Amino acid sequence: MNCKIALIRGDGIGPEVVGEAVKVMEAVGEKYGHQFTFVDVLMGGCAIDAVGTSYPEGTAEKCRACDAVLLGAVGGPKWGHATEAAKRPENALLSIRKDLELYANLRPASLRPALADACPLKKETAERGIDLMIVRELTGGIYFGRREKYMTEDRGEEAADRMAYSEMEIERIGRRAFELARLRNKKVASVDKANVLETSRLWRKTMHRLAEEYSDVAYEDVLVDNAAMQLVKDPGQFDVVVTENMFGDILSDEASMITGSIGLLPSASIGDHAPGLYEPIHGSAPDIAGQDKANPIATILSVAMMFRYSFHLPEEAAAIEKAVDQVLAEGWRTADIAKPGEETVGTVRMGELIRERL
Ligand code: NAD
Repeated sequence: MNCKIALIRGDGIGPEVVGEAVKVMEAVGEKYGHQFTFVDVLMGGCAIDAVGTSYPEGTAEKCRACDAVLLGAVGGPKWGHATEAAKRPENALLSIRKDLELYANLRPASLRPALADACPLKKETAERGIDLMIVRELTGGIYFGRREKYMTEDRGEEAADRMAYSEMEIERIGRRAFELARLRNKKVASVDKANVLETSRLWRKTMHRLAEEYSDVAYEDVLVDNAAMQLVKDPGQFDVVVTENMFGDILSDEASMITGSIGLLPSASIGDHAPGLYEPIHGSAPDIAGQDKANPIATILSVAMMFRYSFHLPEEAAAIEKAVDQVLAEGWRTADIAKPGEETVGTVRMGELIRERL
């Protein structure tokens, strides 16, 4: 297979973790006979420094000419005070997601067996295992609705944010969730607030229609408040959890906490067309940038997601995940996942160990 991958290395630890992920891709290519071509794309704070804007003209076109995009992280204190959109690194993230029409955000939360004791939940809960995938709608809902601020006569200033969802938006994210469940444990939990919100009632009606079509997948409705509780009480009950933008924003952060370190969690943002965008959930970690301290695992596992969802190479994806689990089982740790007093390795050595296990 021949694949072209856009690399947005970005800022802070971005270039370090992407560097290790690229070496893992090369190792997989060698082992399984694939050819990967890499195209560097400038975006974020480094782009502000180089050309004066975080999202240089042609960024989306360069990415569209590739089969997938791998992003490290963008942003940092150096660019933290800018008010103009073009001078804000994070603004580029919203632009690229919009321009590539990435409406589905996939965030797995799985507890790596070797790190079960990093889980803040009860031991019995962790031992039952956690392996769920949150599928969050990314381009609709209250974050993209009309915003208003006005003065009332008797209650001072008032603000309003409109939350809207169309059947089309719900159906396409719903289909993504059911298709994903078919590749996993064939269970979908749809999270809404249908006892209160009209958008949720439309959400639920549409999901029920899809559930009939995907009758081989077990389906349940879960109210968002209950979902928040169940995620800490018994996360092992979930396989695919699908929800709207704001609920997904909050629940995916909650889910990431139950699995231990931020340095371990990958994500994917996908739409109906290539390229999908793959990135660790963490930011640019300016406090440890350039010190060979960053954990590259989240980015390496993002590559595994890329192989599975963009390149349809499940065997290669599983090989990467297995290599990561093996290195962790052998006791190798970067500083973020080490217990006090435990010996640690740096970014480069961790990448090297994973490649060796491949
Ligand atoms: P962060 O995720 O960068 O860091 C939070 C903490 O986690 C820090 O202590 C950091 O050292 C640690 N950490 C993060 N990733 C790690 C890794 N791979 N290995 C070891 N430790 C790791 O979040 P923040 O400090 O809130 O944000 C820093 C910058 O990153 C900000 O400018 C923010 O806007 C940006 N950001 C970018 C993205 C993105 O590019 N997608 C996401 C989140 C934050």
